[in-house]
Amino acid sequence: MRVGVRLFQTRNIILAKLDYYEILQVNRNASGTEIKKAYRRLAIQYHPDKNPGDKEAESKFKELSEAYAILSDSQKRATYDQFGHAGVNGAGGFSSGGFDFNGGGFEDIFGDIFGDIFGGGSRRGGRGQRGDDLRYNLTITFEEAAFGTEKNLQLPRKQVCETCDGSGARPGTEAQTCSTCRGAGQVRYQQGFFTMTRPCPDCRGQGKIITDPCPDCHGSGQVKSKRTVNLKVPAGVEDGIRLKLSGEGDAGSQGGPAGDLYVVISVEEHSIFQRDGQDVICEVPISFVQATLGCDLEVPTLEGKLSLKVPAGTQTGKIFKLSGKGIVALQGHHRRGDQLVILKVEVPTKLNARQRELLEEFAKEGGEDIHPQGKGFFDKVKELFD
Ligand SMILES: [Zn+2]
Ligand SMILES: [Zn+2]
Repeated sequence: MRVGVRLFQTRNIILAKLDYYEILQVNRNASGTEIKKAYRRLAIQYHPDKNPGDKEAESKFKELSEAYAILSDSQKRATYDQFGHAGVNGAGGFSSGGFDFNGGGFEDIFGDIFGDIFGGGSRRGGRGQRGDDLRYNLTITFEEAAFGTEKNLQLPRKQVCETCDGSGARPGTEAQTCSTCRGAGQVRYQQGFFTMTRPCPDCRGQGKIITDPCPDCHGSGQVKSKRTVNLKVPAGVEDGIRLKLSGEGDAGSQGGPAGDLYVVISVEEHSIFQRDGQDVICEVPISFVQATLGCDLEVPTLEGKLSLKVPAGTQTGKIFKLSGKGIVALQGHHRRGDQLVILKVEVPTKLNARQRELLEEFAKEGGEDIHPQGKGFFDKVKELFD
C-alpha cells in the first residue's frame, strides 16, 4: 500500500513518506551488508538502462538510491532511526530535493556497492538496539476526517524497566563482560578465503551476560505496559494515510532509541456524502414536479443544511457547486474544497387514477414542449435511417 508520499509536519505528527527500510525491503535490524545486497538487487531491477522510458521504474530507482544513501551511512542511519525523515531531510545535511541520482552521488554509491560486496562493513554488534515500530489502525468518521479530531489511543508497548533502569541486571549487580567475545559482541570465523564476523552466540551480540537478572523484567530490561497516547488527527486526512509519531513505539534495549508509532487511518463511508479529493459529492433526489416548476431545496452540507434555489426546468444530473463547503486542505496553502450537489430527478412509480388522468391530459396539452430534448434527438435518428 502506498499513500501520501509527501512530508508534512504538524506538531509531533509527520505524515509518513515511505519508510526507507520498506523501500529497500529489509527489516530495521538489517546489517550494512544486508542493506547493500538488497539495494544492489533492487537497483539492478529498476535501473533506468534496463527500463527505458518507464517513469515508474525511474522514480522507484530514485527512491532506492535515496534510501540507500541514508541507510548505508551509519551516522545518517542513526539520525533517521531516531527522527525519521524529518531528521535527514530538513535540518540534517541531506535533502531529498538535492539528491541527484545521475550525478556523482549515484556513481559513488553504485561503485561502492559493486566494489565492496564482501567488505563486511556492517554496523558493530547488536548493542543499543532500537525499539520496534508499532502500528495502530484507527477508524474515524467522515466528519472527523474532514474537520480533524483528537483521540486518546490505548497502546500496549514495551517500556524501559524502571527497577533496573533498562540494564536487565538485579539492582546492585552488574552484567558481566562476555568471555566468548570479550565484550565485542561479535566473533570472527573463517569461510573459504574470507574472514567473516557474526554476532556472538553466547551474549547474542550484547557483549555482556547478565548473571543475576532483574526480578521485574527477568533480564530483558523492558516491561510491558499500557500507555495513552494523545493523537491530533489533522483536518483533511484521507483514507489510508499514515501518521508517524516519532519515538512512540517500543522502547529500545540497552539504551537504544525507541521505535516509532505509525497510525494508519481508515475513514468510514458516509451515508449521504462521498469524497473526491477535497470536494464533497452529494446526490439529492427531487421530484419531476420540483424539477419542472423550480423550488427552494434544502440540501445537507458537512456543517448543516443550506437552501438551494433550483430553477424551473432543471434536468436530472445537473450539478450545483457550493463553493468552499468541501474539505479543508491538509496542507494549509491549498484552498478548501467545494460541495457538489447532483440533482437526480425521480419519475413517480405509483399513480392513482386521478394523477394518471391529470398526466394524460397534460400530455395531450403539451405536444412537443413537454419533451424538449426529444425532438432534436429523434430528428437525428431520422437523418440516420431515412
Ligand atoms: Zn528490570
Ligand atoms: Zn559474547
